[in-house]
Amino acid sequence: MTGAGATASRPPARTLVAARAGQATAGLSRLLGRGDGTVIGGRMSLWVDPDALARLGAGRWVSLVSGTNGKTTTTRLLTAALGLRGPVATNPQGSNLPPGLVAGLGRAEPGAAAALEVDEAWLGAVADALRPATLTLLNLSRDQLDRVAEVRRLADRWRAVVGAHPDAQVIANADDPLVVWAAIPAPSVTWVGAGQPWTEDATGCPACGGRIGWSDGVWACSGCAFARPEPDVWIEGDDVVTAAGARHRLSLGLPGRANRANAAMAAVTAARAGIGLEEALAAMAATVTVDGRYRQVAVGDSRARLLLAKNPAGWVEVFDMLAPPPGPVVVVINARIADGRDPSWLWDVPFERLAGRRVAASGERSRDLAVRLDYAEVEHVRIPDPVEAIGAVGPGPVDVAANYTALRDLDARLRGRPAWRPRRWPRRPWPSRPRSSAAMPSAALPSATGSPAAPARPGPGLSGGTDVASGVSPWPR
Ligand SMILES: [Zn+2]
Repeated sequence: MTGAGATASRPPARTLVAARAGQATAGLSRLLGRGDGTVIGGRMSLWVDPDALARLGAGRWVSLVSGTNGKTTTTRLLTAALGLRGPVATNPQGSNLPPGLVAGLGRAEPGAAAALEVDEAWLGAVADALRPATLTLLNLSRDQLDRVAEVRRLADRWRAVVGAHPDAQVIANADDPLVVWAAIPAPSVTWVGAGQPWTEDATGCPACGGRIGWSDGVWACSGCAFARPEPDVWIEGDDVVTAAGARHRLSLGLPGRANRANAAMAAVTAARAGIGLEEALAAMAATVTVDGRYRQVAVGDSRARLLLAKNPAGWVEVFDMLAPPPGPVVVVINARIADGRDPSWLWDVPFERLAGRRVAASGERSRDLAVRLDYAEVEHVRIPDPVEAIGAVGPGPVDVAANYTALRDLDARLRGRPAWRPRRWPRRPWPSRPRSSAAMPSAALPSATGSPAAPARPGPGLSGGTDVASGVSPWPR
């Protein structure tokens, strides 16, 4: 791989032992059916060698990808592009904290390029350890309110990271004011007009406190010179266009505007490794699912498609991907640690846009969601078990929009694997409101009024949980 100092050298013996201990631990975890073992294996490696991250990253061309939304997909697309030149180290399943990064690097051969997604709050510590060649900054918006709290503090922390790593080439979304604020100290930035339809977290100027105004996708502060930089690369419909006048067609296997943006960011990052935009984009076309996201699956008599929607900005993008109304939608919400314990973000999502569809509120926090849908005046049923909910609103095609652990567990269950942390659904479901129930055929309400809890592992009704070949049956648009 081209790039700074990519000389393959073996890590010290202690680090190699740490990596092997991690792999053995992960293997044991899989054997015991306790998940894929990435995180516990990485923790074991860090216990054996606390400097494992820096040591496993030494001598590689490292690209770090961060942002509130799209980092897993962007990293996957970047990995596909970098794979044109040789093996690539990456962190699978969105394990974007140091244990996951150590696990990903520990599996890869020394000297292989690395494409790694990094949790927004951990970007500084990881960059200090890995000294990346590129920093790809996608977007910043409210997410995991109990953990991250104020997104502007993240922007300030990113700004410090960028300032501390002047050797890194920054690839930044010119359409997100908070990302621009973070990227400005970099000596070298490639600005990408990747779009950011959600603007509610950047109405005030981080430089002067003035008001940021938008007009035709271009933003500027009314009180100072802080404004959208002129992009070097941008998206125009289905094309990626460069300031030099080149135009490349995006023909992705992944749906939606957000994934066109992710692909553009990934392609511009891959260009820093000497891969042409056209070549990079072509390498991404074969990616049709990312850790279960966008996967189409037959569930009983229904055909369902799994979508990740874990915060308001993500939801705004998902509305753009849904099959046209009245296409049925199952919304699945959990509030575990990885989701953020505080589900009040549901009130920031414009769920009013689901009106006119057959909607089911599902997941461990289906009650919170049902209240939100009531206020949005969206007719719905509340069915905590997502598989039952798919059956109730089907046969579909049914779009299933789930947040992080909800999607992870549903995907695992539909693949016939036990959920990582099986739980029982609440024993006494909230009685569904008559107004909501009346909108649905009676056959669609098998469990809304109090059927016993469903087991959180594959049951007989899941025998049809098989993948629907992508491309064979295109999703309605
Ligand atoms: Zn200002």
